[in-house]
Order: sequence, then structure tokens, then C-alpha cells
Amino acid sequence: MRSLTAPELLGAWEAGHPHAGPGRVLALLCAAFPDTQPEELARLPVGTRDALLLAVREGTFGPRVVGLVPCPSCGERVELAFEVGDIRVTPEAPPARALEVVRAGYAVRFRLPDSRDLASLPGLDADRARQWLLGRCVLEANREGAAVSVAELPGEVVLAVAEAMELADPQARVELATACPACRRAWQPVFDIGEFFWREVEAWAQRTLHEVHVLARAYGWSEERILAMSPWKRQCYLEMAAG
Ligand SMILES: [Zn+2]
Repeated sequence: MRSLTAPELLGAWEAGHPHAGPGRVLALLCAAFPDTQPEELARLPVGTRDALLLAVREGTFGPRVVGLVPCPSCGERVELAFEVGDIRVTPEAPPARALEVVRAGYAVRFRLPDSRDLASLPGLDADRARQWLLGRCVLEANREGAAVSVAELPGEVVLAVAEAMELADPQARVELATACPACRRAWQPVFDIGEFFWREVEAWAQRTLHEVHVLARAYGWSEERILAMSPWKRQCYLEMAAG
């Protein structure tokens, strides 16, 4: 299992910091898989990318995931706690480069959305975002042999393509069955491993920079030397520096 060391994690945080969501996720993956070209990682279907991220998160911070989501009815903050293994979907085979849907006389060939698509996704409502993604991911669309544009596809066909995308790349969307203990509302919040892992990395980096600051000031050690220590040894020195 791939895990990120303290210097790698801090490097990924620094590289990802100026970017929005998909760029940050990519910075984490580039740090975890330095032998793979960034362009290749950016081209991974979103679910395949998220499966890798889950593995890196598990190797780095462990398998346990604990978070809080607001209840959509009463606003109570509800705890979500599970293991990475509980949400891992293992597809029978890696998704094909190009997929096809035939529906209502239309034949649509398409690829799965990747990080590049998400990075350039403008802020739209769900329907228009789906249409926009389709515009990027449809390779070819025909009606009885004649080429048609994505805008000409009926809603039924658009929906069938969206469903086929989800089916082929199931790790891309993780929903967690949840119930609010205060008002008993049941719903399925979406868990986004990229966003969650990045928030953890950010909190970890802030804490670690502070530790480096304290130890560098107390002992004159370099960042490199402090990061190379085990967390346990670093804690020992932090306690001594405080005392
Ligand atoms: Zn509630």
C-alpha cells in the first residue's frame, strides 16, 4: 500500500495549495506515484483516481475515516465513521477507454470524465453540469447513422449515458446511508475522498509546520532533519522544548 512520508506530504501540500479541488488531488497523487507522468494521472477516470486516493489515504493516515455532516432537516452535526474498506468498490475490470450506449435510435460513444474535465467544470447546476461534461466526454453521437451534436441528444439518452458512466466507474460516487439521531431524518450524503483527504492533509501540514517552527527555534535544526524524525521522537523533543 502506498503511503506518503512527512516530507512527501508537505511537498504535496505545497504543490497543491494554489490549486482548486482537482489540482490538489492531483498533487497528492503525483507525490504518491512519482514514476507515473502527471498527465497520465490527470487522465484517469474519476473513480479509478479515487480508488488510488483511498489507498494512499489508508497507507498514510490509516483505514479509519471520521467526519461530520450537517443534517439537511435540522442542522444537527451527524458523525460519519467507517473504514476505507467499507466504501471501496472493486470493479470486475478497469473501465474501457471508450464506452457506448444505444438508446432510442441514438448511438453514443464516450469516455469517462477525468480530473481535467473536473478542473475546468464551470459552476453550474447538476443538469447543466451533466450536459457540459457530456460535451467534453462524447466522442461520437449518431442517429440512424447520421452524426448529431451533444445538444441534439434527447434527455433520455443523456441520462442513459450518465448512468452508464456511473456504472462503469462506480468509485466516482460514494453515498453513505446516514440517519440523524436528533430528528431521525435518513439521507445519503456523498463522500468525496479527494476533498476529505485534502482537508486532513491541510490540518496535518499546519500542525507539522508549527512543530518545525518550535523545534527549529529551540534547537536550530533544519526542516529536513525535523521531518525525518518519527512523530513519536518529534513529540518527545516538543515536550522537552516546552518544558
Ligand atoms: Zn436532523
